[in-house]
Amino acid sequence: MQKPANSNKPCPVCGKPPHPDYTPFCSTRCADVDLNRWLGGVYRVQTNEIADDPDGAEQS
Ligand SMILES: [Zn+2]
Repeated sequence: MQKPANSNKPCPVCGKPPHPDYTPFCSTRCADVDLNRWLGGVYRVQTNEIADDPDGAEQS
C-alpha cells in the first residue's frame, strides 16, 4: 500500500486533519487504531481477556 498523493481527506479514525508524516492518519495512534481494526479478526492485541487454556486446569 502506498500513501495517497492528496492529504485533503480527514483522518478516517477521528476526523482530524491528517499529519503529513502519518497520512491519511493524524497520528501514529490513529494509524495503530486502524491497523488493529484490520487485524481485529486475526490477532487480538491489547486484550485483558484471559483465554481458557484446556491445559491450564488447576484441578489437583
Ligand atoms: Zn486521527
